[in-house]
Amino acid sequence: MYDESTTSLRVAIVTGAARGIGAAIARRLASDGAAVALLDLDADGCEKVAAEIRGSGGRAWAGSVDVTDSGRVEAAVEAVVTELGPPTVLVNNAGITRDNLLFKMTEDEWDAVMDVHLKGAFLMSRTVQRHMTAQGYGRIVNISSISALGNRGQANYASAKAGIQAFTKTLALELGKFGVTVNSVAPGFVVTEMTAATAERLGLTFEDYQNKAAEQAAVRRVGRPEDIAHAVAFLAAEDSSYISGQVLYVAGGPVN
Ligand code: NAD
Repeated sequence: MYDESTTSLRVAIVTGAARGIGAAIARRLASDGAAVALLDLDADGCEKVAAEIRGSGGRAWAGSVDVTDSGRVEAAVEAVVTELGPPTVLVNNAGITRDNLLFKMTEDEWDAVMDVHLKGAFLMSRTVQRHMTAQGYGRIVNISSISALGNRGQANYASAKAGIQAFTKTLALELGKFGVTVNSVAPGFVVTEMTAATAERLGLTFEDYQNKAAEQAAVRRVGRPEDIAHAVAFLAAEDSSYISGQVLYVAGGPVN
C-alpha cells in the first residue's frame, strides 16, 4: 500500500506490460528506480514480470486492464494510486496488429486496431493526466512505429501509429505548462511475439524474417525490446524536461 510519508519514488504505469517491449520497459524503469505498475489484458503475464522485478529488489505491481474500456481504465489507474501512489510516468505501449491488404480488410480489423492504439492511449492519458497535472510533473511516452510512415498490409496499424504521433504532439502542447512532457518512441523491427506472428502470417520462419529485417537495417541487426526500453527510459527521465512533442525513431538507422 502506498504511504506518502515513506516514499518519494516515481510511479510508472506501463500498458501491454505482460510481455515483449512493454515487459522490457517495465523492467528498465524499475531498475532506474521507479515503482512500476504493469497493466495488460494478461494479468498473469504481468504478475510474472512483476514478481521478477520484485525478486531483483524493485517495486512492481501487476493489474489487469483493457485499455479500450474507459471503466476498466479508471479502475486500473485508481488501483495503481492505492497500491503505489499517483502516477508520474505513463507508457502507452499496448498494441495489436490485424494486418490485411485494403481490399480484404474488414471493418472489425480496422476498428480493433484503432481502438487499442488510439482510443487506448487517449483513455489512459486522459485518466492519468489528472494525477500528473495535480503534481505539476509527468512524463508520457507513446509507442508509435516506423509503420507510421506507411506499410503495405497495415492501413489500419499505420494510420493508428501515425495518429499516435499527432496525439503526442497535441498532448505536449496542452500539458507542457503543467510540467508534463509527452513524447513518442517509434520502433523498427523488434523481436517479440508480435513480429513472430507476422512471420508466420507471411509464411516465413521467424529466423528468416529476422535475417531479412537485419539486412535492411543500417546497423545490420534486429531490435531487442531492451533497445526500445532504453529510449523510453531516456524520455521518461526527470532530466528530459526540455524534450517534448518529439518522435524518436529507434530502428537501427534512419527511416524514410
Ligand atoms: P506484443 O504483442 O508482444 O505485446 C503487446 C501486449 O499488449 C500484449 O501483452 C497484449 O496482451 C497487450 N494488449 C493488447 N491489447 C490490449 C488491450 N486492449 N488492453 C491492454 N493490453 C493489451 O507486442 P510488442 O511487439 O511487444 O509491441 C508493443 C508495442 O510496440 C505495440 O504498441 C506495438 O504496436 C509496438 N511496436 C512493435 C514493434 C515490433 O517490431 N515488435 C515495432 C513497432 C512498434
